[in-house]
Amino acid sequence: MNRERYSRQMLFSPIKESGQELLANCTVLVVGVGALGTVICNHLVRSGIGRLRIVDRDYVELSNLQRQMLFDENDVRDALPKAIAAKRKLSKTNRDVHIEALVDNVTYENIEELTEGIDLVLDGTDNFTTRYLLNDICFKKNIPFSYGGVVGSRGMTALFIPNETPCLRCIAKPGSDDGQTCDTVGVISPAVDIVSSMQVVEALKYLTNNKQNLRGTLKTFDVWFNNQYDMKFPKPDSNCPTCQTKEYPALKKSLQDQETVLCGRNTVQIHQKEKMELTRLENQLTNIASIQRTPFLLKARINEDITFVIFPDGRVLVQGTEDKINARSLYDRYIGS
Ligand SMILES: [Zn+2]
Repeated sequence: MNRERYSRQMLFSPIKESGQELLANCTVLVVGVGALGTVICNHLVRSGIGRLRIVDRDYVELSNLQRQMLFDENDVRDALPKAIAAKRKLSKTNRDVHIEALVDNVTYENIEELTEGIDLVLDGTDNFTTRYLLNDICFKKNIPFSYGGVVGSRGMTALFIPNETPCLRCIAKPGSDDGQTCDTVGVISPAVDIVSSMQVVEALKYLTNNKQNLRGTLKTFDVWFNNQYDMKFPKPDSNCPTCQTKEYPALKKSLQDQETVLCGRNTVQIHQKEKMELTRLENQLTNIASIQRTPFLLKARINEDITFVIFPDGRVLVQGTEDKINARSLYDRYIGS
């Protein structure tokens, strides 16, 4: 271990040399290397964790640079996958950290393998479909799961620990979020930094064996409208299919595998829900898309390339791509889970 590099962190009495050694032996998974994920990875790599595995399915775009701090204009020009661009930057920061970068969609099919040998999982995603999947696998395999979310100027974060705290599904039931995402209502960069930094603080406490100092709350705040709240963890929901009855619904094939390529039509169909509320979606998309509403469907044209056609029975056509991963990414960004 390079003592000079970590000298200020080892001077911090809760960590010391022993905590630094613990960090050097950790393997951490960060899913999603966008706004939250880039800040998380930056802190983790500088702090000297041993191994970092990062997974992201997207490419760097110009609209990312306002907040995704590991990327620059060259990455946009080269349309680099975020995982690859992040690894390049992070490796220049600390060559001692072993970084494994994967360009992939995270699904029930690969999540077992992705979490192999992982000590802690951090959520850098922008959607609840993936979060429920991470929550399920973490509770199944007894891995702590750090949840973080940010929209507009509002942030929310909690560290869930199997057998010690409730899980994400106990606190945020599927379908209970308001469908707002950074792609529909925007986001300011400082709010992102605060949430992701809080995620890393709790991770450092856990990984350096300082569990007595864990916050133990679901923290929510709004840095623009000046409020914050710490909700002490309630008891787990006795019917929770993740942490109580251990059914892990997100890990089952029947609830996933919902994308179908409609050949020759440059379209992917996603059928994730049983019903869609077209009026709510119309309100959600009205500022960023040109909308056409009929009694049978809602058509939302995002730009020259991408149009969503949304049916009340829960089907969504993503027009403008035949790539399932890209279609899923667009769905999560604009339609939400
Ligand atoms: Zn639960």
